[in-house]
Amino acid sequence: MLLDPVWAWTTMCGRVWAAMVGGDGGALSRYREPAFAPTCRRCLALMDRLFAAPAVDQRVPVVAQLVYAAVREHGYAEVRGVPGDQLTVLRRQIRSLIRQRTGHSSQTFVQRDLVLVMCGPLGARHEQAEMRAAAEAVEAALLGVEPMTSVRPEWVVSWSGS
Ligand SMILES: [Zn+2]
Repeated sequence: MLLDPVWAWTTMCGRVWAAMVGGDGGALSRYREPAFAPTCRRCLALMDRLFAAPAVDQRVPVVAQLVYAAVREHGYAEVRGVPGDQLTVLRRQIRSLIRQRTGHSSQTFVQRDLVLVMCGPLGARHEQAEMRAAAEAVEAALLGVEPMTSVRPEWVVSWSGS
């Protein structure tokens, strides 16, 4: 019993541990920060499956529809203020709606409560200036820079509707 391993040899996603990281007791090396939860996205996704699926908010299909309309027009859309427990289902519905209606695949990115949606083939139909504006919006969101204008562009969908 004393010899039973209490520490898994691999992470949840199957990678062999490179080094141990401190927790409540503080950092184990002056070059490392303590960690209290996995930072690996694959591990977090695997942990997510251990919890009951959250109830799907009734806004999800409505927001997905608005996003689809914006992506069809601009090749790009973003949704602001999405609650954390609705991110996965919203991204899935958006991607499946775009695939069903256009036959194209799309990518979604999450930055805090912001979901960015891009569809290359739909975006390619539009003028370069518009795509440059969309790329700048993605860059601003990923770098945490506030948008320059206070007017909401048509490709921005707000979860709360305001
Ligand atoms: Zn992992």
